[in-house]
Amino acid sequence: MPELPEVESLAAFLRENAIGRAIARVDVVAISCLKTYDPPITALSGLSITDVTRYGKFLDLDVDGLHLIVHLSRAGWLRWKDKLPAAPPRPGKGPLAMRVHLDDESGFDLTEAGTQKRLAVYVVRDPQDVPGIRTLGPDPLREEFDAEALASILDGRRTQIKGVLRDQSVIAGIGNAYSDEVLHVAKMSPYKLAASLTEEEIATLYEAIVTTLGDAVERSKGLAAKDLKGEKKSGLRVHGRAGEKCPVCGDTIREVSFADRALQYCPTCQTGGKPLADRRMSRLLK
Ligand SMILES: [Zn+2]
Repeated sequence: MPELPEVESLAAFLRENAIGRAIARVDVVAISCLKTYDPPITALSGLSITDVTRYGKFLDLDVDGLHLIVHLSRAGWLRWKDKLPAAPPRPGKGPLAMRVHLDDESGFDLTEAGTQKRLAVYVVRDPQDVPGIRTLGPDPLREEFDAEALASILDGRRTQIKGVLRDQSVIAGIGNAYSDEVLHVAKMSPYKLAASLTEEEIATLYEAIVTTLGDAVERSKGLAAKDLKGEKKSGLRVHGRAGEKCPVCGDTIREVSFADRALQYCPTCQTGGKPLADRRMSRLLK
């Protein structure tokens, strides 16, 4: 799932390759991905891409004052093509959701793997018209986000820190993967209550957030869109690595499963050597 660093890198890639180009045509293949109808997506044809930015995990193409905004969700991706086929794609099965043709025959496909279709595209006059953007919390890579800002976010929140980090309305851009990574770097249990963090722990967590995301963005710099996924996976220390060795202490990375996702952590680094309860596992073992 693309999170802040990948979306940031996609934005950088598009700034390099798409700014100054006009949109020739947009083929909407999976109509359900288009969440807005006014202005219509056809309004983009003939207009030039003037900027590409990011809000949390949302990618924003400024198309001469109109905004083409994409949320890739869990299984979505952007594939850049130097030369796109001119013939319109046939709707139906397959991962292609939308194709954006630029005026030099280059462009990109928005694709989504799997059966759950959650990739979302918006055409708006103001990015704040997208509900998920309007309610975003502060961006952890902006200068205003400091340890004090984090402290005031966590203050009084009697919920587990893992959930707080993933909540887009609290902090923008961190998802399931990077919250695992941040907590591993901070040597903190994912179950720790946000409100219980000491000033020192908040400072440690703040550092972990900024360095983990900053390093991931740095590693992805200059990579083509197609290489970003592999870079993300190889850069992760605990996320998706249950059963492997912790790169810090050598303990076995463990996992807690939920209905639709899982978290990974290192018991020695994060939970005093004690494995966390896995409700699903213990229910299955009964
Ligand atoms: Zn460890």
